[in-house]
Amino acid sequence: MRLFPPRASSIMTTPTASGSGSVVWFRKGLRIHDNPALEFASRGASNLYPVFVIDPHYMKPDPYASSPGSSRAGLNRINFLLQSLRDLDLNLKKLGSRLLILKGDPAEVLIQCLKQWNVKKLCFEYDTEPYYQALDIKVKSFAVAAGIEVFSPVSHTLFNPMDIIQKNGGKPPLSYQSFVKLAGDPPSPLLTELSSLPPVGHLGGCDIFEVPTVEDLGYEDAKQDEFSPFKGGESEALKRLEECMKDKWVANFEKPKGNPAAFLRPATTILSPYLKFGCLSSRYFYHCIQDAYKSVSKHTSPPVSLLGQLLWRDFFYTAAFGTPNFDRMRGNRICKQIPWKDDDKLLEAWREARTGFPWIDAIMVQLRQWGWMHHLARHSVACFLTRGDLFVHWEKGRDVFERLLIDSDWAINNGNWMWLSCSSFFYQYNRIYSPITFGKKYDPNGDYIRHFLPVLKADMPKQYIYEPWTAPISIQTKANCIIGKDYPMPVVSHDLANKECRRKMGEAYALNRKLNGLVSEDELKHLRRKLDAGEEQEAKAKRSRQQLIG
Ligand code: FAD
Repeated sequence: MRLFPPRASSIMTTPTASGSGSVVWFRKGLRIHDNPALEFASRGASNLYPVFVIDPHYMKPDPYASSPGSSRAGLNRINFLLQSLRDLDLNLKKLGSRLLILKGDPAEVLIQCLKQWNVKKLCFEYDTEPYYQALDIKVKSFAVAAGIEVFSPVSHTLFNPMDIIQKNGGKPPLSYQSFVKLAGDPPSPLLTELSSLPPVGHLGGCDIFEVPTVEDLGYEDAKQDEFSPFKGGESEALKRLEECMKDKWVANFEKPKGNPAAFLRPATTILSPYLKFGCLSSRYFYHCIQDAYKSVSKHTSPPVSLLGQLLWRDFFYTAAFGTPNFDRMRGNRICKQIPWKDDDKLLEAWREARTGFPWIDAIMVQLRQWGWMHHLARHSVACFLTRGDLFVHWEKGRDVFERLLIDSDWAINNGNWMWLSCSSFFYQYNRIYSPITFGKKYDPNGDYIRHFLPVLKADMPKQYIYEPWTAPISIQTKANCIIGKDYPMPVVSHDLANKECRRKMGEAYALNRKLNGLVSEDELKHLRRKLDAGEEQEAKAKRSRQQLIG
């Protein structure tokens, strides 16, 4: 096994004690390769306790949720996590160890075990998410008081977000270009393979479990065909990475040129769920891309290249870490204050794939079935829900993605929802994705729609597949799909809705400009009333125009 110096970004609290037990606490970072916490924990240890805690905060079944799963995670992601844990357990066993599963509040159960096991080191990957920040303070303060050395390296991202923020005078850079300028080259991954690990020590009275199944967790009715086609785990991640690196595809990768409707052979890597759980190290991924570039004469560059995509990931991590209340509109200094509508009916129609726009509904079905969609598909549905058509709050859409995506990632998801709703990072609210023509450009025959919305599969001619409500009734009858009965009428008229949304965004931007972003709750309510009154007046005028014509 290779020895390595702790990275400068790691947190160490007491001097190293060798020859005794260590705990490596897995949360993300579900891998053996490039895992500084695992390497440091096993260095010189007589015993190693690799633990993962099944946390009810994420896993407890919620019978009231809109689809199977917990209140925070859909069943697809829970299943992906369990597959990743099983793979980690197998890989640890190959090295003479095993994964110890604990259940309960992570701080409580871990502290109980630390009290019973003879350990001198506690090692876990540093996590920038607020949930883990709060949890880690509790565990760290117990360990420090008990004289246990804590090692918590940054290894989930390419860079330490804190370093970038410091280089930028204490604030996160808010443009990709300035981020890239500050970032430079990331540290190299640890490339030496572990050949063995110290054995697990005496377990005392701690309750240790095997990796549970979804049924063990209380999801009795789960059927296999409800699960995402993507299988979790480090082994799968490395296989997938190898496949991606095989041909010139990596060198020519150029986003956003890919086809969002490609589902038989998706246009991007689908490595995001593996990065989310740390089954794949982003530094190792970066290193492999650099290696692949060496064998070609030319390759694409950031922001559109594959390397550039990994930099986007770190960009959002840095922005999220350095921005208080990054996951909400109120109290978030980088987020425009916009009087979004509180309309649960529209939200539900969007979430349940019942908007009547096949392109939007097919994407939402893909989200529910696969837990993954192409980046531009995510653009389409996020824009549609917020500033494009429905004017529903981005936080509501974020919640749906957060639950259902298998790659659901706190920093990236919130960052992109702010981007798409023109609340932060991107401000051209007049540029709207059409729910009718955008998908048609890539997939004129509507194969993607036919796959995810079987109700439109049979005989809906291609000229109507993106707007079936315009098909004559004879065609609807022939296609076995009556609009309004078998498939919904559109929830809004896109032409009117997007015009209305742009008017509202214009007024909201003007208010934010006037008040330098410091818009109070009352001022926002006032604007909401004014906009609603305008909308009502407009609707009345339209009704009387129609009566006159009629
Ligand atoms: P590739 O194109 O192959 O890119 C490789 C990796 O680069 C990805 O796996 C991802 O880690 C990173 N990456 C790519 N695009 C972005 C981006 N725009 N921002 C940050 N990192 C990026 N991605 C998530 O991982 N988790 C989320 O919760 C998430 N929520 C999103 C919500 C919205 C509204 C939008 C518009 C995008 C969201 N994304 C999210 C970003 C992006 O869509 C996905 O990372 C990407 O589609 C994943 O597919 P891939 O692995 O094939 O990506």
